[in-house]
Amino acid sequence: MDHIEENFTRVRQLITAAEHCYGRQPGSVRLLAVTKGHSVEDIRIAVEHAGQRDFGESFIQEALVKIRALADSPLSWHFIGPIQSNKTRDIAQHFDWVHSVDRLKIARRLDGQRPSDKPPLNICIQVNASGEPTKSGVTVEEVLPLAKAILQMPRLHLRGLMAIPAPQGALQKQRDSFRQIRELQDRLGEHGCLLDTLSMGMSGDMAAAIAEGATIVRIGTALFGDR
Ligand SMILES: *Cc1c(COP(=O)(O)O)cnc(C)c1O
Repeated sequence: MDHIEENFTRVRQLITAAEHCYGRQPGSVRLLAVTKGHSVEDIRIAVEHAGQRDFGESFIQEALVKIRALADSPLSWHFIGPIQSNKTRDIAQHFDWVHSVDRLKIARRLDGQRPSDKPPLNICIQVNASGEPTKSGVTVEEVLPLAKAILQMPRLHLRGLMAIPAPQGALQKQRDSFRQIRELQDRLGEHGCLLDTLSMGMSGDMAAAIAEGATIVRIGTALFGDR
């Protein structure tokens, strides 16, 4: 893929335009480049030609190969995929962020396995606001107890919520889904869980997510092409 550099320019312009359009603070939305299914070479182009630092991966074995190959660059690695308990040690050791925590057991393991020479692991709780049974994520009712438990864990730093709403074509429908997540963040704040991160928005719905308060957008296809 030789258009990676241009794609980064275009996506960053879209983010800046959406921040402006929806009254968001300039620079308040962080671009997470999602590289699952893409090569180390593609990531290197993003680092060296587009100055990208935050990268997201969904599969631990694939991610470890890339993290090792790029160990000479000061990058932030975000785990965004489903988490099996036998993978928590690798995640706790090699990542800076985990966006997809949806069980107490997984949080406890990450807390116990985070190396003491690293800062606490940044955590987002994945929320399945629509309650679709096939999808990962906690229900709206389960968020507060899980958030309170994670706040007690010394090696984890609870940052916010992550959501992957069902794809919707219309901007208003996309906004409705993201608004639910932001309102949930507000309610958690009223209960003393102050969270600074909303990880929401992908290639097809990033403007709607920014309109509703996303602070991290997770973008793959618009940067690196189809997987
Ligand atoms: C793959 C993936 C993305 C990126 O999706 P695109 O539509 O390619 O931008 C974002 N979030 C998660 C959790 C993903 O698995």
